[in-house]
Amino acid sequence: MKVLKFGGTSVGSPQRMKEVAKLIADGEQKIVVLSAMSGTTNTLVEISDYLYKKNPEGANEIINKLESKYKQHVNELYSTEEFKQKTLEFIKAQFNYIRSYTKDIFTLFEEKVILAQGELISTNMVTNYLQEQGVKAVLLPALEFMRTDKNAEPDPTYIKNKLAAQLELHPDADIYITQGFICRNAYGEIDNLQRGGSDYSASLIGAAVGASEIQIWTDIDGMHDNDPRIVDKTSPVRQLHFEEAAELAYFGAKILHPTCIQPAKYANIPVRLLNTMDPTAPGTLISNDTEKGKIKAVAAKDNITAIKIKSGRMLLAYGFLRKVFEIFESYQTSIDMICTSEVGVSVSIDNTKHLNEILNDLKKYGTVTVDHDMCIVCVVGDLEWENVGFEAKALDAMRDIPVRMISFGGSNYNISFLIRESDKKKALQSLSDHLFNH
Ligand code: ASP
Ligand code: MG
Repeated sequence: MKVLKFGGTSVGSPQRMKEVAKLIADGEQKIVVLSAMSGTTNTLVEISDYLYKKNPEGANEIINKLESKYKQHVNELYSTEEFKQKTLEFIKAQFNYIRSYTKDIFTLFEEKVILAQGELISTNMVTNYLQEQGVKAVLLPALEFMRTDKNAEPDPTYIKNKLAAQLELHPDADIYITQGFICRNAYGEIDNLQRGGSDYSASLIGAAVGASEIQIWTDIDGMHDNDPRIVDKTSPVRQLHFEEAAELAYFGAKILHPTCIQPAKYANIPVRLLNTMDPTAPGTLISNDTEKGKIKAVAAKDNITAIKIKSGRMLLAYGFLRKVFEIFESYQTSIDMICTSEVGVSVSIDNTKHLNEILNDLKKYGTVTVDHDMCIVCVVGDLEWENVGFEAKALDAMRDIPVRMISFGGSNYNISFLIRESDKKKALQSLSDHLFNH
């Protein structure tokens, strides 16, 4: 069985919902995970903000606006009075439920309940639409099987057992629709898998049912070997190893939510990225297979700060790095790149919220210098150390660009350069020319 996930824009209007319905009703049994209609979760966050600020009028205004938008969607989506009325009733009940939260104290707990409404509504709308079209579709309530444990991590055994029980209730359904993003926590309260978490839901569900494939459908055109907004020519990337995808996920390459990778990778279930706007395009397949000897993609991330700590005391001393890292840890700042020499260490960070405090503390251990407005450029592919020639090719492309740091050997799949943000375009173009034959 396949698991298909459609993001917010893919179900963002009645028209798009109809297209999704057409795409999934091919007679094959499948599980379909849906996000909220695009913009809804943000609006629910806004409503919650008003309620935190004890402004029920502000909240109500947005609630009313959102409700009338949904009513209009319903009028456009269904052709029969029966399904129109049925769905309108559901939506009315959910919005009245949201309104009931404007009258009392508002905490994180109430916010989670409000945030869950987007997915509850979108899945109800699509299930009803499929049923109206005569498709054997059933709604599987995610709140009955998606659960996190005491560490707020998904509980795979619980998910597997409860989901199997839900599926058994409807053995001959063709399409199982369920909500992405939402879950219950270890205490049974409504919770979620963090913003953008429906990719994670799809991956967890795929692993739980031993799916043959997990498909992530968005409205963007899969993965490219370089940033099409910056370089002249790019090609689609057809295949990636999970670890290559993990390297790229950090660069906001808009491929898929980083959390989605792990469950699929461990269960050895391929993840395919597909485009709702171009459904017959092959997309990008992410799996545990490595394409030998191939450089796959180049990606860049801006707003990076480099910090160098130089110290005579580092020479032949042990424990120096631990002290340095502890400072970053104490300010909950994660380090992205790191390069060391016998007399110094350079690191890069992208969160500068506590930069001043970090610099102050680091000065205890050495001379500290900072470079702002830097950029990490990352080359991803089969970069196993025993291969020869690939590092040289990447380095050759950077020949005319001042490079602040180089990192290679951290994984088998990447080499990263830290350069000035102002050199990014030149670097990406040059890497593209040297590494890919367009
Ligand atoms: N609707 C949720 C969000 O906007 C989850 C998702 O779309 O993945 O964050
Ligand atoms: Mg999303």
